[in-house]
Amino acid sequence: MAIHHQILIIGGGTAGIMTAAQLLLKNKSLDIGIIEPKEIHYYQPAWTLVGAGTYNLKKTGRPMIRIIPKGAKWIKDYVTSFNPKNNSIYTKKTGVISYNYLVVAPGLVMAPELIEGLPEALETGIACSNYINPKHTWSSIKNFKGGNAVFTQPTTPIKCGGAPQKIAYLAADYFKKNNLSDKSNVIFATPGSTIFSVKPIKETLMKVIYKYGIHFKPFYAPFKIDIDNKVIYFKNTHPNENKCIIMEGSTLNERSTGNSIIEIPFDMLHIAPPQTAPNFVRDSVLVNDTGWLDVDHQSLQHTKFKNIFGLGDVAALPTAKTGAAIRKQVPIVVNNITLLLSHNKLGTKSYNGYSSCPIVTGYGKMTLAEFDYKGNFTPDPMLKKMLVFNSSKEHWRLWLLKKYGLPYIYWNKMMKGKDV
Ligand SMILES: Cc1cc2nc3c(=O)[nH]c(=O)nc-3n(C[C@H](O)[C@H](O)[C@H](O)COP(=O)(O)OP(=O)(O)OC[C@H]3O[C@@H](n4cnc5c(N)ncnc54)[C@H](O)[C@@H]3O)c2cc1C
Repeated sequence: MAIHHQILIIGGGTAGIMTAAQLLLKNKSLDIGIIEPKEIHYYQPAWTLVGAGTYNLKKTGRPMIRIIPKGAKWIKDYVTSFNPKNNSIYTKKTGVISYNYLVVAPGLVMAPELIEGLPEALETGIACSNYINPKHTWSSIKNFKGGNAVFTQPTTPIKCGGAPQKIAYLAADYFKKNNLSDKSNVIFATPGSTIFSVKPIKETLMKVIYKYGIHFKPFYAPFKIDIDNKVIYFKNTHPNENKCIIMEGSTLNERSTGNSIIEIPFDMLHIAPPQTAPNFVRDSVLVNDTGWLDVDHQSLQHTKFKNIFGLGDVAALPTAKTGAAIRKQVPIVVNNITLLLSHNKLGTKSYNGYSSCPIVTGYGKMTLAEFDYKGNFTPDPMLKKMLVFNSSKEHWRLWLLKKYGLPYIYWNKMMKGKDV
């Protein structure tokens, strides 16, 4: 007999667990199923600190069984496809599962194959990535003896858009403290046009870049890695507009080979791999033409199927993909589903695109970028209680928030569905 749940959630990550926990706090008699294949749930934001040798990887994971909210049914399986017209999905082992409401929250997947040579570079350890193996990033930083340390990110959307630059600042700080600055070039190359789109944060980060002497390369889109010669290739997407900041006395050995192609040899390479929605989502009728889950930006309801909601990294929302964004998305989804169940109508609350990126700028320092769909800087008034009066500036209290406060809030509040 086919399995049925009143509310079926795909994914036991940040978004799936938080949604289930909040729904059950509102009404513990709801019948909720969570489909999640993995045994361990990770607090990924701490991987930046693991990559910088200042956080224990083991402390970032907890057994899924302890995270699934009491009252929800854990279906340990993979979803393979959707049948939204029949209100059902298919799974690998359990077969068909039907629902009244579906919440799609399977996150995103790494797609290193979209950059030539990247799968091999990651497999052989020639490149490191906090997105895949933060412990290897830390060994790469520790073992760096000088030369070019390249930090870069792809042209696809990525989760936590600030993560590729955070590790560049931490590495630059580490090299400085270990007297390696004189014999090294730290390069931050990004396909984007600016270091950060929120103005006060950008101003702080440009000062940080100058302070460390980082070579900042906007409009650099990585497309190929030569692992034998340890060279990374970029397409310079705006050669005429490129306002690269090239530090004096550079020994980068950067070469332009025409057609706006740039080669940079490296001694250390940190890269955020290209990222896409999982295949079973991309191959479904639920996506927009860029391949991400097509939901209304305010209500998070699917644009075609009204009993489907989507949130988290998989959703096609024009804001940064972060856990902090999910913290503000979940109450909207929960409110809408609860009201649909009780009154057959959507709620009036809407998601304003809030997201936040805690940008660590060195050991013991951080600036907190909080913003909405319009790119307005929207600092949380609660920060004043922590005696942080301008979170766009570097502050040691913000570092403490990142290292101790946010993990505590994550495990004890967000995962339990409590208000934060
Ligand atoms: C290095 C790094 C640093 C970061 N820093 C920050 C930060 O400082 N602040 C911040 O707020 N955010 C940060 N993030 C981002 C944050 O961790 C993510 O945005 C968040 O975890 C996304 O939650 P999600 O529920 O959408 O996806 P996930 O948490 O990835 O969960 C998705 C779940 O769906 C499951 N799933 C996948 N496919 C299927 C399937 N076919 N069937 C069933 N289940 C499936 C997966 O197993 C997974 O458990 C960082 C991320 C990384 C990697």
